[in-house]
Amino acid sequence: MRMINFSAGPTGLPLSVLEHAKAEFTNYKGEGYSIMEISHRSKTYEDVHFGAMDKIRKLYGIGDEYEILFLQGGAHLQFAMIPLNLYQGGVIEYANTGVWTDKAIKEARTMGLEPSVVASSENSAFDHIPQINFSDSADYAYICSNNTIYGTQYKSLPKTKAPLVVDASSDFFSKPLDFSNIGVLYGGAQKNAGPSGVTIVIIRKDLLERDPMPHTPTFLRFKTHADAKSLYNTPPTFAIYLLNLTMQWVLDQGGLNAIKEINSKKAQILYDAIDGSGGFYKGHAQKEHRSVMNVSFNVAKNSELEPIFVAQALKNNMLGLKGHRLLGGIRASIYNAVSVGDCEALADFMKEFARKNG
Ligand SMILES: *Cc1c(COP(=O)(O)O)cnc(C)c1O
Repeated sequence: MRMINFSAGPTGLPLSVLEHAKAEFTNYKGEGYSIMEISHRSKTYEDVHFGAMDKIRKLYGIGDEYEILFLQGGAHLQFAMIPLNLYQGGVIEYANTGVWTDKAIKEARTMGLEPSVVASSENSAFDHIPQINFSDSADYAYICSNNTIYGTQYKSLPKTKAPLVVDASSDFFSKPLDFSNIGVLYGGAQKNAGPSGVTIVIIRKDLLERDPMPHTPTFLRFKTHADAKSLYNTPPTFAIYLLNLTMQWVLDQGGLNAIKEINSKKAQILYDAIDGSGGFYKGHAQKEHRSVMNVSFNVAKNSELEPIFVAQALKNNMLGLKGHRLLGGIRASIYNAVSVGDCEALADFMKEFARKNG
């Protein structure tokens, strides 16, 4: 029996990916060893490493103008690496849409920088994406495309001539993206692309030519990793192997256009259950700003029912529905590996719970 996994991350991977990995766990392609037991300099591993990069290019339709990096340290290390590598003595602009952008802003401050917060939705508990006017001359403009905790998401990326830096940790590979002003798109793999341990950074090549801030260690320079094709030191080989399999799975689903359609359908099922509950449930995000990946809501009728909802859902094999500790309530994270049927099961459970407790 496998649980239906609504966890925010790490979270469920497609069963076929896990089965594939299981089948060759001790004996990779008949070579007599596990993929995690060989050198990252071997041809066998290199095929996996570069295969994963090729699939990411293919999925997003990006060419040679971008470099794809496999790093470690999660999104948190990027909060530091972004200013270290992209700050050029000018202004750096951030839109504050929740905990993750707030952390990125604070991290830039630890370097003595003064990020300009050009927009924020903090006054309304981050329940929407604010109107943003980035200047065109900033060293970079920074956003988080999907706010995992509050369940808000950009429907399109803000326009600016400054390189746009996007924390896409929780909506990576969930839909096609217009790369025309993306400077850097990054995120940990553990929400939509694989297990924890590898951070994917897609960076426009001209940005690799910027001089990092003084005293930036070799390891924290994007160029170090770009020049070494993300083999500067030992990469998290097993995580990248699973990333490669997951990217193949996304391609097999029909790519990002097909994935986007499935994801919209899934989100619609849950938002319909919330909106059709006669006020029993209430979504956190304003309707036009709702996330297709994280559905955060409350039992508006009586918040004391929330832990009971989570406990009963667990008994029905539904995992990970407790809201983030900062927001409370309930959150269903419906990343790529969650199916339409899984969302229907949750919607049915929600209706039944409301009927019994309404
Ligand atoms: C989960 C998450 C993070 C934190 O990621 P780590 O890999 O744990 O550093 C940052 N940003 C967003 C949007 C997230 O969802």
